[in-house]
Amino acid sequence: MNQDQARQLLEFYQDLGFKTIYRRVSEKLSALPPVLSLAPDHDTLQKISNDIGDCKRCRLHEQRNRIVFGSGNEHARLVFVGEGPGADEDAQGLPFVGRAGQLLTQMIEGTAGKEGIPLKRADVYICNVVKCRPPENRTPEPDEMEICGEFLFRQLKSIQPKAICALGGTAAKALLGVKEGVTRLRGKWHKWSGIPVMVTYHPSYLLRPFNQNAKREAWEDLKTALHYVYD
Ligand code: URA
Repeated sequence: MNQDQARQLLEFYQDLGFKTIYRRVSEKLSALPPVLSLAPDHDTLQKISNDIGDCKRCRLHEQRNRIVFGSGNEHARLVFVGEGPGADEDAQGLPFVGRAGQLLTQMIEGTAGKEGIPLKRADVYICNVVKCRPPENRTPEPDEMEICGEFLFRQLKSIQPKAICALGGTAAKALLGVKEGVTRLRGKWHKWSGIPVMVTYHPSYLLRPFNQNAKREAWEDLKTALHYVYD
């Protein structure tokens, strides 16, 4: 289709009342290098945040209150990647500030403390695969992950941490491009663009009752990641 044909088609949809269209993406999430090669040299978190702007690239913008870009140390040696903002995060514009966030903070600071590593939450960087809250906290759709993933990858490329901790299946899928669940992926090192990735359970999952075993495993995963990065 040439430019004129594309314009005519868009005008046709506009006449029908469509205000926004989104590009279709392949079913299979690609594992990132093409996007990475598009990241500008000397990228910074500030520049990435500016580029996100008042983002309307996907349908998630329609119900969001705040874009949740990420927070923490921009030179962090360890980055945590969650799925997407919940209600508290959407209200405050900060990642992991609700109940799951309190647990994540406890896990980071508590495990580090027990292992003799003087680490505070502010020393790491925390962000999500998608920057806008999915309605009813649903799992992000593949096209939303792909569109927003561009910014996640730029964040990671700019920070260049020594390791990444993927919290839950959505983060694991976005970073590793695999379909396996957390149970199979956790506890082992994987790689994203040459950076080691530890997959573990999402703190929201650990908050559910009867997950005692998963809690123990998550502490083990975190311990492995902390020693790798800070020993
Ligand atoms: N869950 C996430 O995945 N991210 C947040 O920021 C909060 C809850």
